[in-house]
Amino acid sequence: MHWRRKWQPTPVFLPGEPQGQRSLVGCRLWGQQKTIEPTLRDLRDRQVSRDGRGGRGCGWSHTSGRAESRASNYREPPLCFLIKSSMIGAVIGRGGSKIKDIQDSTSTKIQIVKGGPEAEVKIFGRKDMKAKAKAAIETLVKKQERTYSSECSVDTQPRIDWDQVKAGVVEWKKRKWADLPPIKKNLYIESKATHSLSEAQVEIWRKENFNIRCDDLTEGEKRPIPKPTCTFEDAFQQYPEIMQSIRRAGFQKPTPIQSQSWPIILQGIDLIGIAQTGTGKTLSYLMPGFIHIHSQPVSRKQRNGPGMLVLTPTRELALQVEAECSKYLYKGLKSVCIYGGGNRKGQIQDVTKGVDIIIATPGRLNDLQMNNFVNLRSITYLVLDEADKMLDLGFEHQIMKILLDVRPDRQTVMTTASWPDSTRRLAQSYLKQPMIVYVGTLDLVTVNTVKQNIIVTTEEEKRSLVKEFLQSLSPKDKVIVFVSRKLVADDLSSDLSIQGIPVQSLHGDREQSDRDQALEDFRTGRVKILIATDLAARGLDVSDVTHVYNYNFPRNIEEYVHRVGRTGRAGKTGESITLVTQDDWKIADELIKILQRANQIVPPNLRSMADRFKKSKKSQEKCTEFY
Ligand code: AMP
Repeated sequence: MHWRRKWQPTPVFLPGEPQGQRSLVGCRLWGQQKTIEPTLRDLRDRQVSRDGRGGRGCGWSHTSGRAESRASNYREPPLCFLIKSSMIGAVIGRGGSKIKDIQDSTSTKIQIVKGGPEAEVKIFGRKDMKAKAKAAIETLVKKQERTYSSECSVDTQPRIDWDQVKAGVVEWKKRKWADLPPIKKNLYIESKATHSLSEAQVEIWRKENFNIRCDDLTEGEKRPIPKPTCTFEDAFQQYPEIMQSIRRAGFQKPTPIQSQSWPIILQGIDLIGIAQTGTGKTLSYLMPGFIHIHSQPVSRKQRNGPGMLVLTPTRELALQVEAECSKYLYKGLKSVCIYGGGNRKGQIQDVTKGVDIIIATPGRLNDLQMNNFVNLRSITYLVLDEADKMLDLGFEHQIMKILLDVRPDRQTVMTTASWPDSTRRLAQSYLKQPMIVYVGTLDLVTVNTVKQNIIVTTEEEKRSLVKEFLQSLSPKDKVIVFVSRKLVADDLSSDLSIQGIPVQSLHGDREQSDRDQALEDFRTGRVKILIATDLAARGLDVSDVTHVYNYNFPRNIEEYVHRVGRTGRAGKTGESITLVTQDDWKIADELIKILQRANQIVPPNLRSMADRFKKSKKSQEKCTEFY
């Protein structure tokens, strides 16, 4: 009996009792009674106290005849043996289930007393039943030991060698792209006129052309930035078909973004173009793209897939780019437009027929890619158009998946209207040693061909203001009224229609065919007023929009710049009217900066709104400090 004394009294685990009670009972058994084994009185005392609590738990606490007979067996000395303390849990089971089962099936009472690395098990009951209970406990212990040893063997497995895994990935990528034909990237021959431009002349030209700024983002030694191509001939003298289509379009000279982008892209250098829509950015990447895919060493037939991919944020922009593609068609290159909401079956047919250029929104293209309807391996020229908007719309994941299947040594062009961190990260991931061209300043700029008017008003006055404005339009005018939500678009459209003012509306809830019809009506001039939400209006290129009316202020200042850029396009002038209410006071300060940068009038009540907001922010900060 010595071995028992060596142990300090520790909790007795009695299945079915709350933890706190277990310790108490254990202490009483070992401490107060100063006996090693519980007597029948102990057990009965305990039974009474348990019954007071409702007699939950293991069988021996019940006052049934069976329990009584079981109790009478407790006069027998218990069968005692040791198990490892780490095995206690396995023997007791969840909520005492296992030990309760053993007790019930053997009509015994089992106590387990923990005392260091080993625990003592005491089984009270009939002799044969005690042995049976012991066997059952030993089976549980053995089972648990087997589990332990298998877990330990997992632990002793060799650790993952991440360097090896990484090397494996590199090897896999190498194999994936091993059999690809080389890409020809540099297709530029500098004209004599461009070559003869001095550095000073280039500087002056850039300043005069919306203050163009360029940089080489290569790590290490910077490359010289190519001089701008000031005429179409400077860029495309060796490509007569391109020159023909430009002449057909009647363009006078390249836009600033085109002049500076063309010599960079034609040299095969990746490019980030920061420019708003309406600046000619689409042709700035399409023309060199046409030349690129037509000049590859592998013929279009042998390539067995498209050579150019343009990703755009919205279907409207995708259709717009496709329209430009078809307008300036080069060497019979075939293009296809793939976008969500369009006829999927038809798009699959188009793609599988064999195309040279895919213009797509990321969601639908990813869908076709995952279902193996489109082969992206042949793409050597990639455009991420309006990358900032694609990120805003949450397309990053789809872009990532699409680009896993596009060869990494392709040429990549990215256009964006803003340059926040998210867009920088995207550029870092997908462009290699790019050059960057900003049109305007690095900060946001509205096109300076637009007169921007701001009206500080109230929500209640907006309806009458917009009606008054629309009634004052001349027959030549064309206006886009921007609203914040689809509901407002529908409400305002029906309100105006009832009053006999013909309008069309464009928002994400309308069927694609209705959206196409609305655009067509507006483009052709059948309808002069278009009520639109931002999402639907992205990429909308209607060159004769005379006015932009911001019925609701947009979500952010970048969107304001985009909206304003819908007018004053392709060398024309335009006007914007923006209603600002007290609810928009957060953006007042940023709006003032935009207006100042474009030399526009800043209304005094907009200034005082910005001041009030600053003051309120300061006092809020003080309050927070105080608390
Ligand atoms: P984007 O910025 O690509 O949306 O282009 C806006 C509009 O400008 C499109 O309708 C183009 O056809 C037109 N455009 C493109 N390049 C020129 C140019 N060099 N001169 C005049 N208009 C142009």
